Amino acid sequence: MTKLLVRNEEVLIHAAAARELATHTLLHLPHESCGVLLGTAAAGSIQIEKFHPIRNVAPDPLHAFTFHPEEWIKFCLHPERLVGIVHSHPHSQPIPSQDDLTKLNGYGQLLDAYLICSPNESSNSIIIHSYRIIHPSFHSKTEINDNFRLLRTQLTVT
Ligand SMILES: [Zn+2]
Repeated sequence: MTKLLVRNEEVLIHAAAARELATHTLLHLPHESCGVLLGTAAAGSIQIEKFHPIRNVAPDPLHAFTFHPEEWIKFCLHPERLVGIVHSHPHSQPIPSQDDLTKLNGYGQLLDAYLICSPNESSNSIIIHSYRIIHPSFHSKTEINDNFRLLRTQLTVT
């Protein structure tokens, strides 16, 4: 079933979820950390209510993330509250890498929101960028592109 993602203009995150995300990210430095975002996606906005860490089992966790398969599948089996995923970029800006975009095609169908966070060196906190996942069906008819894309959105802490 196709969701009307194009209407979700804004991403909101509960303050408690943002705090847990920051704590988890900073705790795992210098490794990349990752997790899922639970909440609701409705017309106009995506509300993130909870952050759930997932173990990063990438062979090179300094530069990549791979969800622990059993932990990840639990959330995929209950997709009704799964609204997005998050991972960290410990050594670079919170901007999607080519690898992030390639992997997005594997699970983009399940998700609405995509967050990336980076440590803010000066204040022991994190910088979060939020992106809306644009599904291939919403691309212009003249555009030949079957990939999922990410569109930067406003992130508001509620
Ligand atoms: Zn990345």
